[in-house]
Amino acid sequence: MTSKSAAAAARATVYGYPRQGRGRELKKAIEGYWKGRVDADALRATAAELRRTNWRQLAGAGIHEVPTGDFSYYDHVLDTSVMVGAIPARHRAAVEADALDGYFAMARGTQDVAPLEMTKWFDTNYHYLVPELGPDTVFTADSAKQVAELREALALGLTARPVLVGPVTYLLLAKPAPGVAADFDPLTLLDRLLPVYAEVLSDLRAAGAEWVQLDEPALVQDRTPAELNAATRAYRDLGTLTDRPKLLVASYFDRLGDALPVLAKAPVDGLALDFTEAAAANLDALAAVGGLPGKRLVAGVVNGRNIWVNDLTKSLATLGTLLGLADRVDVAASCSLLHVPLDATAERDIEPQILRWLAFARQKTAEVVTLAKGLAQGTGTITGELAANRAALASRANSPITRDPAVRARVGAVTDADAHRSQPYGERAAAQRAHLGLPLLPTTTIGSFPQTAELRVARADLRAGRIDTAGYEERIKAEIQEVISFQEKTGLDVLVHGEAERNDMVQYFAEQLTGYLATQHGWVQSYGTRYVRPPILAGDISRPEPMTVRWTTYAQSLTRRPVKGMLTGPVTMLAWSFVRDDQPLGDTARQVALALRDEVNDLETAGTSVIQVDEPALRETLPLRAADRPRYLAWATEAFRLTTAGVRPDTQIHTHMCYAEFGDIVQAIDDLDADVISLEAARSHMQVARELAAHGYPREAGPGVYDIHSPRVPSTDEAAALLRKGLEAIPAERLWVNPDCGLKTRGWPETRASLDNLVAAAQAVRAEL
Ligand code: GLN
Ligand code: ZN
Repeated sequence: MTSKSAAAAARATVYGYPRQGRGRELKKAIEGYWKGRVDADALRATAAELRRTNWRQLAGAGIHEVPTGDFSYYDHVLDTSVMVGAIPARHRAAVEADALDGYFAMARGTQDVAPLEMTKWFDTNYHYLVPELGPDTVFTADSAKQVAELREALALGLTARPVLVGPVTYLLLAKPAPGVAADFDPLTLLDRLLPVYAEVLSDLRAAGAEWVQLDEPALVQDRTPAELNAATRAYRDLGTLTDRPKLLVASYFDRLGDALPVLAKAPVDGLALDFTEAAAANLDALAAVGGLPGKRLVAGVVNGRNIWVNDLTKSLATLGTLLGLADRVDVAASCSLLHVPLDATAERDIEPQILRWLAFARQKTAEVVTLAKGLAQGTGTITGELAANRAALASRANSPITRDPAVRARVGAVTDADAHRSQPYGERAAAQRAHLGLPLLPTTTIGSFPQTAELRVARADLRAGRIDTAGYEERIKAEIQEVISFQEKTGLDVLVHGEAERNDMVQYFAEQLTGYLATQHGWVQSYGTRYVRPPILAGDISRPEPMTVRWTTYAQSLTRRPVKGMLTGPVTMLAWSFVRDDQPLGDTARQVALALRDEVNDLETAGTSVIQVDEPALRETLPLRAADRPRYLAWATEAFRLTTAGVRPDTQIHTHMCYAEFGDIVQAIDDLDADVISLEAARSHMQVARELAAHGYPREAGPGVYDIHSPRVPSTDEAAALLRKGLEAIPAERLWVNPDCGLKTRGWPETRASLDNLVAAAQAVRAEL
């Protein structure tokens, strides 16, 4: 290989594109289908049109090889389950009766059958449907969707590359089906799965695929020797098939580490690697194995999951280094562009000067094309693009928005003492007991009460100018009155104002903090037809004025019982936003923490004795590789303490987390030094209470006794039984009684009944003490 011929051959590609369309057509069509307003043919036609639009746009922008098969009516992992015939027994009848309805039944459940479980796709906010497998699983190939979509793209005269979830990742993402032993390892099914992949590959080749991409992001996580061995076997078997297209094995979200030599040695034709955050590690590892002689290297140099313009000069340097390491180097975004919004130019409310710092899917596509052109034809052919890029980067680096001297001075002056409460927990607990005078097993809720249709109407009315701010605030106040009087009647001990004024727990704060940007059209798929618009942490963060104090003190004015102040914590503010890439995450977290600290202190000054700082995202932002976790946890827990440590000892700090599986972060939970933590626990029968106890967690905790994820009302006996289970792990002096999470998605009838039962359960168990 010569680096000159590798450069000349450079091409542009991407692995996937936003699915729903400019006008959210896919979401509308699918939801219309569910409601019976759109028929199956119309839905299929909409979907096909969206795919064509995407491909034409990609090809028109200069992408040489467009992805196919990345489209989905719901989720591409579910599509993979269909492709390999892994239909759970309970869904088989529905799938046989009607493939499309059966597909949606697996995704969403029906009146009678539960859907597949949903969980986050690596460390993104995209959710996939977890494959359910067991020793009796029989795989059968169904390549229809992949083949059909490939043919559609080929019919447009395009070069197309089908993209599939790879077999190893598919099995590593799976879990034992209901009724199968919990220790069943889906990876033991590899030998049964590979022939099915072989069949699909052969079908795709017959349909005209020169290349097929197999995504193996699970290989960027820490893997055991047995798992790496499975990868070796998988790609030896697939690589030595005679009737197959060329195989590109793709990795993204982090470095390949130990899996890199495995894939480099495998008899496949190309590898795709992430050269954004993992660039240095992947470069070193590539050099260490002597490059990829005879193979195609696809270099993901444009960040596919954040929204900032690429540093083209830097990317060209990386690409230049890579040229000597493979036969052919292609340029790509680091992962599917599914994780970013469609088009920054659709944003009308963002100042043009800031808009040019942003790159959504369309802009990223253009960057990939520019880089491939620069690589293949020399940088002399992209001088205009390079100059514009340098100007955009300079404007961002020198902007007063990204460099606020007051914020920087304040962050620079933070001391270790600022991140520590003035007294140890034991002394604080005594002061809080005296101050609050709560009973044993105090009852509370997590913050939100039902977001009723009337509240949504009020917000829509305000946006549309049908009511003014004063009118809107009257409606919110009325809601707060109702929530407070309900809680008093029910007999809860620590009340909340109900969060009626919040559209979303991150957006609400983002809108009030300087340095945050909101988008109008920046929709990103969260799951199925649910799309979110993450705000953008664009500049230095400050809080011009109090954000929640008015509502909390209004609620407190209506009752003598303590009303808990309610804030979203710094880690969650980062996790559910697009973050800055021009400074370490920890620096951004500190800025957000200091802004929130002011809010916490203002709440205390206004008379709030209990303040909850929610951190549901602490666990999900955990880095994919264990080696990176201590550093993350250090800044994350420090940011939480910086937010909360400024209060008096007798002010009680609560935190809240959901989404189960806390086992590996109990130490971090301890390091938050919150006085009380509420956690999701009802479905796991108080598992987390035992985990906290095993760790010797010294502070108060409220493992949830009411699963708020369904309208089901837990009986008093059921909640009491969970509470007694909690008492086996946590002594009565430190145990709280609360639901798993906020009630915003619930209706009022079940909320009333459930909280009545929750309070009755607390009273019953108190009587036994
Ligand atoms: N306080 C928030 C609520 O009750 C917490 C939400 C969450 O943990 N996701 O809605
Ligand atoms: Zn929660």
